[in-house]
Amino acid sequence: MHPSPLQDRFGRIHTDLRVSLTDRCNLRCTYCMPEQGLAWLPKPQLLTDDEVLRLVRIGTERLGIRSVRLTGGEPLLRRGLPGLLARMAALPSAPELSLTTNGVGLARVAPALAGAGLHRVNVSLDTLRRDRYQELTRRDRLPDVLLGLAAAQAAGLAPVKVNAVPVRGVNEDEIPELAAFAVAHGYRMRFIESMPLDAQGAWERERMVPAEEILERLRERFALEPVPRRGSAPAEEWRVVGTGAVIGVIASVTRPFCGGCDRVRLTADGQLRNCLFATEESDLRALLRAGADDPAVEAAWRASVAGKGPGHDIGGAGFRRPDRPMSAIGG
Ligand code: SAM
Ligand code: SF4
Repeated sequence: MHPSPLQDRFGRIHTDLRVSLTDRCNLRCTYCMPEQGLAWLPKPQLLTDDEVLRLVRIGTERLGIRSVRLTGGEPLLRRGLPGLLARMAALPSAPELSLTTNGVGLARVAPALAGAGLHRVNVSLDTLRRDRYQELTRRDRLPDVLLGLAAAQAAGLAPVKVNAVPVRGVNEDEIPELAAFAVAHGYRMRFIESMPLDAQGAWERERMVPAEEILERLRERFALEPVPRRGSAPAEEWRVVGTGAVIGVIASVTRPFCGGCDRVRLTADGQLRNCLFATEESDLRALLRAGADDPAVEAAWRASVAGKGPGHDIGGAGFRRPDRPMSAIGG
């Protein structure tokens, strides 16, 4: 079957699908969720492996989705993840497969994930100091994450990307150290502006470290030259002069890239979201469970994308926080 593009009314073509496999997490990053965790989705509400696989097949076969990123919550908490990945990789319309993880437990499963057909991995790491890591994530797991990074690289899940969210007064002083660590290990560092998507609603613009400032801090340590921007990639990238190392900055707040957005998101309970900041969702799980055929699911998916807005306006007068936090949407 030849898919026809998943285009919205602004001409944006959507080829990237983010799939949240669970809303649960084994960390409690302060910029993401409260210490006590959240009211997790009950299991019957979660998409089963068969349902996830069917939606990935419909997306890739009929709608032109070419890349699928598995996320959460913490996707490594999903039972049977290598098996689910292997089934996605075996689809005739198999997409490029990547995963965003906090890296806890990655050391043990990286070879199985690579063997199942995973191509790339992004590991979130906001500090290299063990005491600070414990404060920031409320768990003492930094050594596991460092082992996970090395194991991912050894398993060929390349390029291994390291994602950090600098927060003022918490870890912004570590921006150069994190970058130097990534450069030394051959990981690709990316800094992400913090967004008002924490479950507690405690985000403050003043504590977000804007891209300009991230770059200023990087320039104290490195000579940087811009890498020409490719298509819809959200990261603006800089090459460390004289090396092959590339550092990315994702300026979702101060330089939004909505005009080039090519993403749709599927929550762990089967709700399609046409934007991270969408305030409406399309219930694909209900369709699947009501026995809808592939064309009906395709039509609902296209209708959702057709209704996509031009972009978010964080901090603007009309901005409304989405009802779900990042961990329940799938970051
Ligand atoms: N648990 C996995 C992890 O941490 O990589 C996957 C899900 S997590 C929600 C995905 C990414 O979102 C992580 O890189 C995390 O740092 C980032 N994130 C979480 N809350 C955020 C916020 N309020 N603003 C910006 N990024 C955030
Ligand atoms: Fe968990 Fe990722 Fe949120 Fe941290 S950012 S609490 S690891 S979902």
